Amino acid sequence: MQIDIVSVFPEYFDVLNLSLFGKAQSKGLVSVHAHNLRDWTHDVHHSVDDTPVGGGAGMVMKPEVWAECLDDLLGLEPHEMNADGESDSNSDAGAGVPDGTDTTVTASAAAGESPSNGTVVTAAESNGTGDAEHQPASDSASADTASDSDLQAPTHNLDTVLIFPNPSAPLFTQRDATELSHAKRLLFGCGRYEGYDARIPEYYRAQGVDVREYSIGDYVLNGGEVAVSVMLEAITRLLPGFMGNPESIVEESYTGSEALLEHRQYTRPAVWRGMGVPDVLLSGDHGKVDRFRRDEALARTDAIRPDLIEQLDCAQLSKADRKT
Ligand code: SAM
Repeated sequence: MQIDIVSVFPEYFDVLNLSLFGKAQSKGLVSVHAHNLRDWTHDVHHSVDDTPVGGGAGMVMKPEVWAECLDDLLGLEPHEMNADGESDSNSDAGAGVPDGTDTTVTASAAAGESPSNGTVVTAAESNGTGDAEHQPASDSASADTASDSDLQAPTHNLDTVLIFPNPSAPLFTQRDATELSHAKRLLFGCGRYEGYDARIPEYYRAQGVDVREYSIGDYVLNGGEVAVSVMLEAITRLLPGFMGNPESIVEESYTGSEALLEHRQYTRPAVWRGMGVPDVLLSGDHGKVDRFRRDEALARTDAIRPDLIEQLDCAQLSKADRKT
């Protein structure tokens, strides 16, 4: 999977060289480039923001700088939009994506065309990024990834997806992470200040780009870098070969067709500071252990996230489940 991140603080993503993500880069599963948005500015101050139209506090990220950067990374020509908010095919501005044709931006249109000013976080070769190996779960008999129904999300292969973190967008969920783990290329744009000009995502949608805006929670961060890190980790840990033990992503909270919270976990010693683990877990009776864990998952989800219980398809619940 090819990953491009645009930020005014590209160094923030140096941490991606650590831990499992660092290993995934060395293995060629992911190839990451962090780009500095200021590299696409032309003024002496390298400014990327301007005052809000209509007044108000703070600064807003300028569309021109973002567009130069994104056009470059996506391999698109600039287009003028007409009064209907559509890309004007008669525009003199450029001849990127013709009107009335398949406007999906393919990975091949831009893969490997990163500008020289991108900070290369990884040394992974582009043909070793693992994207070709990342088949939809349904196509693969391997245990490397969970099945379609387990993951409860579309598993068709996506080409390039452009993602903007935004606190006023729909919430990013495990389902989104699962879907995006099938993309060939992800391009993240990190907002700062009061955010980015609203026309930026709108414009690229009109060019046929698959643009997503996501919030990672009901709170406001200083910038999109943390949000991108969160999404990136949730997405890439689902890539086949990313986790040491592929089983560990199959039975987890928010995962599977039911998307319940997971049961609680214990390790040894069986008694610690006078606190024992539930007896059933020491019984060696796998049927009882499974039943105990299932009951706990249902009860905890009901108590902590009743919204997830409400979304449950009751037809999936067994008689024993219903007793819980
Ligand atoms: N004025 C914006 C608002 O009230 O909705 C907040 C802008 S925030 C200070 C700057 C940038 O941080 C945003 O453009 C976005 O990229 C990122 N950001 C902040 N909180 C976020 C969240 N909860 N989820 C995703 N991105 C977030």
